[in-house]
Amino acid sequence: MPRIVYVNGRYRPYAEAAVHVEDRGFQFADAVYEVVEVRDGSVIDETRHLDRLERSLGELRIASPMSRAALRHVIRQVAQRNLVRHGTVYLQISRGQAPRDFVIPSPPLRPTIVCLAQRGSLQRLDAAAERGIAVRSSPDIRWGRCDIKTVMLLPACLAKSDAQAHGAKEAWLVDRDGFVTEGAASNAWIVTAKGEVVTRPISPAILAGVTRKTTLDAVGREGLKLVERAFTIAEAKMALEAFITSASNTVMPVVEIDGVQVGDGQPGPLSRRLRSIFHQIAERATI
Ligand code: PLP
Repeated sequence: MPRIVYVNGRYRPYAEAAVHVEDRGFQFADAVYEVVEVRDGSVIDETRHLDRLERSLGELRIASPMSRAALRHVIRQVAQRNLVRHGTVYLQISRGQAPRDFVIPSPPLRPTIVCLAQRGSLQRLDAAAERGIAVRSSPDIRWGRCDIKTVMLLPACLAKSDAQAHGAKEAWLVDRDGFVTEGAASNAWIVTAKGEVVTRPISPAILAGVTRKTTLDAVGREGLKLVERAFTIAEAKMALEAFITSASNTVMPVVEIDGVQVGDGQPGPLSRRLRSIFHQIAERATI
């Protein structure tokens, strides 16, 4: 089955889908993106993803290139045309194409939009969640506006690659004060001995994860005690449970941090519970 990619108004075969060499997304990472989960033929938490996309665009003063209804249409079309029932849709908007210049062009350029879909395996993801994953800490060397979901992902790529080279699935990034900011591509959580669910509060130091927000809804619905504060790797190693959240993993238990077992080394009951109810709480929009 050929893959189809949406580029600037056209649905193109994968091998022919391209953007210009002087696209500012390519040269300056002057672009924002979203990754949206598709599950059982539904788009998950689309409204929150599009809210965040609009915010990211606004923070960078990139005008939204199309209406929300049109974006929703493209997401559905790309999922449908690629026969994705489970997987993800990737949507990227760059400032557009112009001769290379650090100064942001005025008047504004026509933004570049790319949307593609990738199939995923629910079985493989669930099997990983049954085992739980290992994470490895890494210094957070990113910029000061991690709340904007830009494609400037090289520090995250380096950290995640280092983690994987050491047998871990995800990196947990640590700020200069020794506190975990978030994962390379996820938000970080622990459950303390007091049963408190702890995650770092929203600030420019982290991305406001859509899955984080829906997990907060789940924590509230379960009547769990939530504390939004930063925690260290040392505290996380002593925690009862740990987990990450992201659109492509939903709630994924963490069973090892820097080679140290978390709790009894098995996914904890609260992490399992939050994972199991996540899709009852998330918004689902049929494709
Ligand atoms: N933090 C970072 C740095 C990310 O890259 C991601 C997802 O890619 C997340 C958190 C989780 O965000 P979401 O739950 O919206 O996927």
